[in-house]
Amino acid sequence: MSFFSYFNRVLHGYPSGSKLLVLCSISGGGLIAYADAHSDAERFTVEHNQKEPQKKRVVVLGTGWAATSFLKDLDAKSYDVKVVSPRNYFAFTPLLPSVTCGTVEARSIVEPVRNIIKKRSGQIQFWEAECLKIDTADKKVFCRSSVDENLAGNDKFSLDYDYLVIAVGAQINTFNTPGVLEHCYFLKEVEDALRIRRAVIDCFEKSVLPELTEEERKTNLHFVIVGGGPTGIEFAAELHDFIHEDLVKVYPLVKDLVKITVIQSGDHILNMFDERISSFAEQKFQRDGIEVLTGCRVVNVSDKLINMKIKSTGEDVSIPHGMVLWSTGVGTRPVVKNFMEQIGQGNRRILTTDEWLHVKGCEDVYALGDCATVDQRKIMEDISTIFKAADKNDSGTLTIEEFQDVVEDIIIRYPQVELYLKSKHFSQLTDLLKDSEGNDTEAVDIDGFKLALSHVDSQMKSLPATAQVASQQGAYLSRCFNLKSKGKHDPEGPRRFRGSGRHEFRPFRYRHLGQFAPLGGEQAAAELPGDWVSMGHSTQWLWYSVYASKQVSWRTRVLVVSDWTRRFIFGRDSSRI
Ligand code: FAD
Ligand code: MG
Repeated sequence: MSFFSYFNRVLHGYPSGSKLLVLCSISGGGLIAYADAHSDAERFTVEHNQKEPQKKRVVVLGTGWAATSFLKDLDAKSYDVKVVSPRNYFAFTPLLPSVTCGTVEARSIVEPVRNIIKKRSGQIQFWEAECLKIDTADKKVFCRSSVDENLAGNDKFSLDYDYLVIAVGAQINTFNTPGVLEHCYFLKEVEDALRIRRAVIDCFEKSVLPELTEEERKTNLHFVIVGGGPTGIEFAAELHDFIHEDLVKVYPLVKDLVKITVIQSGDHILNMFDERISSFAEQKFQRDGIEVLTGCRVVNVSDKLINMKIKSTGEDVSIPHGMVLWSTGVGTRPVVKNFMEQIGQGNRRILTTDEWLHVKGCEDVYALGDCATVDQRKIMEDISTIFKAADKNDSGTLTIEEFQDVVEDIIIRYPQVELYLKSKHFSQLTDLLKDSEGNDTEAVDIDGFKLALSHVDSQMKSLPATAQVASQQGAYLSRCFNLKSKGKHDPEGPRRFRGSGRHEFRPFRYRHLGQFAPLGGEQAAAELPGDWVSMGHSTQWLWYSVYASKQVSWRTRVLVVSDWTRRFIFGRDSSRI
């Protein structure tokens, strides 16, 4: 029996209150599994030469998913580590939508970064500051404190680095749509979630004032979400539950005037998920009375109106609103933009790294998480050198045996190969060399080789901007740092087809562990590994368990689970604090 069906069975037999107990136990187990996975990852302690005059200086920018996961596993004794971030805490972003409606409290999803680094035996220094500029010529970063400027002392400083790890995340993206910055809410930081919570209550308080017309009350209670991605949809679902489970009881006079609308420019909401999930979400929202307007592009936003164009007809439409959440994707931070210009990446949309997370064209600088993208190498760019390297006897043809010799290196170096073989249901790379009738070929020339591998690159996909990617990259990079000196003498990576020798390390490879979409009413949808889709109430319980287990500390785990319990028993709080 799979874990999931077992989980379903376990939970079906319990009422909500005791489900939380089951959840606590399971999530504790989840934590152990998670921690084990990390301790399994080889933790090599760099042998530190006592005569070495100075440890290498590592400067880390950021305290989000990527940076925290890097710091958690880094062998901090081998480096002089300094961390700079305007936020002195880590925030568990997947629960931010729950903070907007008070399902979970803000304090419950943050962990002070000093608590995290304290566990690394005080080897890591932290400064609450923003990096304003990176100077790659002098290997320096220039920073400014984010603490109140009225306090005594200079708030600017610079730090020298030998290695720089950029993990500053991304910022909101308005796509230069007029009025968005001034009149919309965003959901990126904990402060944003608290601001939204107050704004929702404000809309209700305003709508019950005595002198308003019904139209005015309706306008104030029209909540609009621009963007049908996971954040927008989860917020819509949370808001719907908050209103229908709690606020209608405290504002009974206006309960029939409330409306939630989601505006999506594509044809479906949640279009990054499996089609079954996106249509399940659309049907659930329809039943819940949440209006979904697809194929609409917002042109501008004013304090009272959203103006948009219907893509299919070109028609202009305006809708009045009480509050708008703008949730349409992310953009590059100014410090990263400036850095990209310095290193000749100014014409790119996002900072680019190689598969080892090295910033392209920049020695000793690494970038991970939402601020960067991995530029995966196409196999077709290297096809001739691969052929030459494999054709040991220079015969101009490749026998199966010759090909076998390089197969492993190809699979490690080009992750798209494995995905392609999977998509074609091939068990091994040499299957690609079979003729059209499926018979083994004895040898191929360069044209035959190119033809056999010509479609492999079609499987290349850029990695999504998610916490899962960011934290896996952080763990990967810390391992490379921990094994740096070993990697030089005893490289473990694939052979270099375009050079000699081997790469020090295997390239970063993302392992997708699945993704969730909570849809409100104690229902969620999930895409799990192995193309498995699951939807409904049990999936919501799986969501509770996974999110409790993924908390960074026992403190936040206990707080989050007790917030959920409080919400089940007492409902959410409608005070405007
Ligand atoms: P962040 O976590 O954003 O961290 C960036 C860090 O850099 C912060 O500490 C910031 O203060 C700091 N910083 C910013 N500017 C500077 C500067 N100039 N100098 C120094 N430091 C700086 N992903 C999932 O996988 N699953 C989910 O369910 C999920 N839900 C989400 C829900 C919401 C509401 C949001 C907003 C995101 C969600 N994500 C989810 C996406 C996930 O949060 C991001 O992909 C992830 O945070 C990226 O990690 P990061 O370390 O690159 O950036
Ligand atoms: Mg040969």
